[in-house]
Amino acid sequence: MTIEAKPQLPVPHPTPISQPFWDACLRHELTVQKCTSCGKLIFIPQDFCRYCFTETLEWVPSSGTGKVYSYTTVWRPQTPSFEVPYVVAIIDIDGGYQMLSNVINVPPDQVKVGMAVEVVWDDVTDTITLPKFQPRQA
Ligand SMILES: [Zn+2]
Repeated sequence: MTIEAKPQLPVPHPTPISQPFWDACLRHELTVQKCTSCGKLIFIPQDFCRYCFTETLEWVPSSGTGKVYSYTTVWRPQTPSFEVPYVVAIIDIDGGYQMLSNVINVPPDQVKVGMAVEVVWDDVTDTITLPKFQPRQA
């Protein structure tokens, strides 16, 4: 019997702009940028507001709850390190922004558009924790 080592999962590479987001994820805190001028929430991390072009954005806590806006089930992963099937979803986060993530802890065929979800943390390395989502507990 041959045991083949799977390649490591690819992980995000934080940039100076996104580092505060990833640092908060390590603490199991979901954060989002908020424009100090127009008040809109900005995700993915940027160096200016995409709505009013103000360059003063602040990091604020996010609810970590939301609903599935859209999703797909992946059966053919980009690398063999991903175990299939898994769900990739756009989450409408309460407060007014969207995040691309995974929906876990539920069979893929039970994920539905509009499903209430909450953030759950996947500590994948010492420096990267991924925010994922699971069906909201009552
Ligand atoms: Zn703005």
